[in-house]
Amino acid sequence: MLVREQVPLAPYTTLGIGGPARWFVEGTDEESVLEAVRFARERSLPLFVLGGGSNLLVSDEGFPGVVVRIALMGIEQNGNVFRVAAGENWDNFVTHAIVKGFGGIECLAGIPGTAGGTPVQNVGAYGQEVSGTIAMVRVLDLNHLKYGELPAATCGFSYRRSIFNTTHRGRFVVTRIDYKLRNKAFPVLSYPDLKRYFRDRKDTPTLAEAAAAVREIRHEKGMLLVEGEPDCRSAGSFFKNPVVPQAQYDAMVAKASAPIPVFAAPRGMVKIPAATLVEQAGFHKGFAMGAAGISSRHTLALINRGGATAAEVVALRDLIAATVEKRFGIRLEAEPVWLGPEAGTPATTGR
Ligand SMILES: Cc1cc2nc3c(=O)[nH]c(=O)nc-3n(C[C@H](O)[C@H](O)[C@H](O)COP(=O)(O)OP(=O)(O)OC[C@H]3O[C@@H](n4cnc5c(N)ncnc54)[C@H](O)[C@@H]3O)c2cc1C
Repeated sequence: MLVREQVPLAPYTTLGIGGPARWFVEGTDEESVLEAVRFARERSLPLFVLGGGSNLLVSDEGFPGVVVRIALMGIEQNGNVFRVAAGENWDNFVTHAIVKGFGGIECLAGIPGTAGGTPVQNVGAYGQEVSGTIAMVRVLDLNHLKYGELPAATCGFSYRRSIFNTTHRGRFVVTRIDYKLRNKAFPVLSYPDLKRYFRDRKDTPTLAEAAAAVREIRHEKGMLLVEGEPDCRSAGSFFKNPVVPQAQYDAMVAKASAPIPVFAAPRGMVKIPAATLVEQAGFHKGFAMGAAGISSRHTLALINRGGATAAEVVALRDLIAATVEKRFGIRLEAEPVWLGPEAGTPATTGR
């Protein structure tokens, strides 16, 4: 195992922000991941598991513990089950599955990061979530230092949530995922943007056409990573869509000066687009605060306009959240994970 020291983390994140990791290990197989955990434990250091850094805000001070970058590679197919190593690029896997004629993840095209990152926040977009296809997640259980397999039913998937980012945060390192896909499937075109895109089509689009449409729509919204485009230096949506009781929504609408859309959510709750709240609180696309700002194409994407510090992004995040709370009584929840000096406990995956 090669352990590097003082490795700058900014290049490992899509925001391009963050100080160094005191210790840095590439986890290229299950043994090296285990060794990195042991290395941290022997020195009582905190541990952080890094995927593609696309849902991450790293502090300017960096991280004083051990960062293990998940770099396990390989895709195996057994019938309609694709066994994908956690370090595989997610978007490449989507393309791989589609080329083989398998559907179920075509609407998740263009999402950056690793396959291992997808179960963590139950990645979702344009009418699909990975929980719709995940059959099993292989993990290193840090409580017992043993590898094992978690069936999807035990992963607690819901909107942007799983046991990996809630009840069992920091306990598991994901090393492999089984996705159960559908052979010769028709694409899911339930999302309004996709319906609109294909409204003049008489025949059913192919999976590849659906994925291409998703990528094009994402590009228009600055939600596709394209080299050199400043709107791309983000961590995706910075705020989750709030899920609140219907009564809270009704009370809010009564006081609002403009319409606020709403969508049904499980257990009688409703989901409100965070973008609407942010816009109505006075933050528009292209808003700038120092070197941090809001994407010119997406209200929810906070961006690094060039040379931004984590402190600047945090200041903008907090200003938006406080203004929305004052205006609507709703506390927006940040989506990206924060990695700072205080994150993590000895040999856990950080927060
Ligand atoms: C332009 C852009 C668009 C995006 N669009 C979407 C979208 O449409 N929908 C959506 O859901 N997300 C979206 N995201 C967010 C992000 O891409 C996903 O959350 C992605 O799955 C994160 O994976 P990652 O490998 O980059 O994880 P990282 O950012 O490296 O890590 C995120 C968290 O997951 C943990 N983690 C990562 N890998 C593992 C592992 N193997 N085992 C245990 N824990 C792990 C980390 O410790 C950390 O807590 C977008 C981001 C960007 C930049």
